[in-house]
Amino acid sequence: MKKYLRIILEVLLAMLLVGAAAMAYWNYAGKKHISYELAEVTEQVDEAKEALEKAEEEMKELKENIEKLETSVRQIDSLKAAFANGIVLQDVETSYKGQKTLSAERQVGIAALRLLTNGVNDPETVAAFQKSLEMSEWGKNLQTVCAAQNALAAAGQKVQVLSDCKTPEKDQHGGKEKSAKNAHDVHWGYEGDNGPEHWGASFPICGKGKKQSPLNIVGPFEKSKDVLSLSYKEGPLKILNNGHTIQVNVEPGSKLTIGKEEFDLLQFHFHRPSEEQVDGKNAAMVAHFVHKSKEGKLSVIGVLLNEGKDSAAIKTLWANLPPKEGEEYLPAKVAFNPGTMLPKDLGFYNYEGSLTTPPCTEGVNFYILKTPVDISKAQLAKFPFKMNARPVQNLNGRKISAG
Ligand SMILES: [Zn+2]
Repeated sequence: MKKYLRIILEVLLAMLLVGAAAMAYWNYAGKKHISYELAEVTEQVDEAKEALEKAEEEMKELKENIEKLETSVRQIDSLKAAFANGIVLQDVETSYKGQKTLSAERQVGIAALRLLTNGVNDPETVAAFQKSLEMSEWGKNLQTVCAAQNALAAAGQKVQVLSDCKTPEKDQHGGKEKSAKNAHDVHWGYEGDNGPEHWGASFPICGKGKKQSPLNIVGPFEKSKDVLSLSYKEGPLKILNNGHTIQVNVEPGSKLTIGKEEFDLLQFHFHRPSEEQVDGKNAAMVAHFVHKSKEGKLSVIGVLLNEGKDSAAIKTLWANLPPKEGEEYLPAKVAFNPGTMLPKDLGFYNYEGSLTTPPCTEGVNFYILKTPVDISKAQLAKFPFKMNARPVQNLNGRKISAG
C-alpha cells in the first residue's frame, strides 16, 4: 500500500511539474507574442502617421489643382455660354448661305461651331460633325495635323513634327520656289518625284506595309462565305475634284451589309486605269465605293469599267463635274443613286488590303466585283485625270477568295 502511495505521489508531483512547466511556457510565449504585436502595432502607427502626412500633402496639391481646374472650367463655361446663344453660329451660317459650295475645311469648321453651340447631346449635330470630318480629305487632314504640330512646337512643346509637316522656313534644303510649291499642297501624285514609288518617304506604310492594295487578282481562289447585300438610296449629288480624283460624297442612308455587319457608304471615286488587275490585265477604269462600319472598319467595293456602251450614270456625273478643284459642288436639283453604277451580279473577289492612296492605311477589306460595267470611249476621254492608279502591290502570302 505504501508502495502505491509513493507511486501516486510521484505521478502527482510529475503532473504538477509538467503543469507548472507548461504554465510557465504559455505565460512566456504569450508575453512574447504580445510584445511582438506591440512592436508591430507601433510600426503600423508610425507608417500610418507617415501615410497621413503624405495624404495631407497630396490633398493640399489636389486642392490647388482643383482650384486651377475650376478656373479653366469657368473659362470653358464662359466660352460655351458665348456660343450657346447661337449668335456666332448664326453669323457664320448667314455668311456661308450665299455660297453654292463649301470646302471640306469650312464644313468641318461650321460643324465644330454647331457642336459648340448645340452641345454633344444633339445627335444630328454630332452626326453632321462626323460626316464633315469623313468628307475632308486625307491630304487635308495632314495639313491640319501639321498646323497643330507646328503650333505646339512653336509654343515650346516637345513635339515630334512629321517630316511632311516641316515648315519651309525650317527646311534648310528648300529654296523659295520649293516653299511655294509646298504651300500649294503637292504632297503626292502619280508621276515623277511625287509618284507612288516615293510615297513611302512621307507615308511609311505605303513603303513598308505588307498588306497593300491594289492587287493582281489571280486564282486559285478560296471560297468566300461572305454575302454582300446593298441598299443604296437616291440623294442630292455632291461631287468633288480633290486634285487626285473625282469623288462623289454620299448622304447617310446608303448601306452595305456583309453577313450581320452593316457599313455606311461614304463616297465613291474613280481611277484610270483600274488599279486592280485581273489575270494581269487592267480595266479602263475602276470605281471604288468606300464604306465604313460603326466600329470604323472600312470595306471597299470595286466596280471595273470597260470600254463599251454609254453609261447613263456616268453621263449624269460627267455633266456635273465641279467647276473648281478642292470644293464640293452641289448642282441644283440633281439627284443621284449610287446603285445605278453597279452591275446586277454582285459576285466578287475578296482580299484584305489598304487605302490605295497615302497614307495607305491597312485593314481595308476589298470586294472587287467580277462583272464589269460599260463606259463609252467618249466618256472615258472626259475623265479629267489621265492616270491616277497606284501599281499593283506584292501579295505577301495573302489569300484571295471568291464569292
Ligand atoms: Zn480608290
